[in-house]
Amino acid sequence: MAYGYISVQALATTTMAEPVMGYCVKCKDKREMKDASQVAMPAKGGGTRPAMKGTCAVCGTGMFKILPKSAAPAA
Ligand SMILES: [Zn+2]
Repeated sequence: MAYGYISVQALATTTMAEPVMGYCVKCKDKREMKDASQVAMPAKGGGTRPAMKGTCAVCGTGMFKILPKSAAPAA
């Protein structure tokens, strides 16, 4: 049985250094998201979709940013 060529790279390449930007409803502007973490939120029609959860770096208001489906880690 030949498995062929299986690429194993690009598995653990999470870049945590990059600041996550989101829209703050209180500042009414784009702000850097503090303590941002990726969460899975329920999507319409079942399943989940990726989102970022954090707080505004300026005023501390909770922020939420829905990510494109392509941003989801391959399950
Ligand atoms: Zn804010």
